[in-house]
Amino acid sequence: MILKDLATISPVYRERIKKVKQVDSKIIKITKLFQNPNIILSSGKYIQEILFLGEINEHTKIQIYCSCPSFNFEFAHILNDNNCLLYPEKFKLAINKTPRKKNKYSVLTGCKHCISSAQYIQRKIDQIQNIFYKNFKER
Ligand SMILES: [Zn+2]
Repeated sequence: MILKDLATISPVYRERIKKVKQVDSKIIKITKLFQNPNIILSSGKYIQEILFLGEINEHTKIQIYCSCPSFNFEFAHILNDNNCLLYPEKFKLAINKTPRKKNKYSVLTGCKHCISSAQYIQRKIDQIQNIFYKNFKER
């Protein structure tokens, strides 16, 4: 999954567009994890992380995490199957069994917080790139 895919709401999830809009994403930290750019965001009481497996751009493969229950129950399993789950060790229970409910369309996506985070990053991608490269320029 690339950032652009996560930021785009699948037509089968049309009813989520409004819910995603209500999420107020903020960047907490732009850092490095496993040598890659990692963006940590918050939306109210939950934390999201988006790890770019390469350069910060819309077409780079990403791995994602959210601390909300919906992410655990609905999305961790399919994300893990597609190697898009960040911190899979935190979701052992969720990924070892078939998802209990929802995500009935088997669409590779995240919870509303993750989608909102992806859209936020997409809007500010130039600024985020600049901050990252200023802070982590090698040499
Ligand atoms: Zn979430």
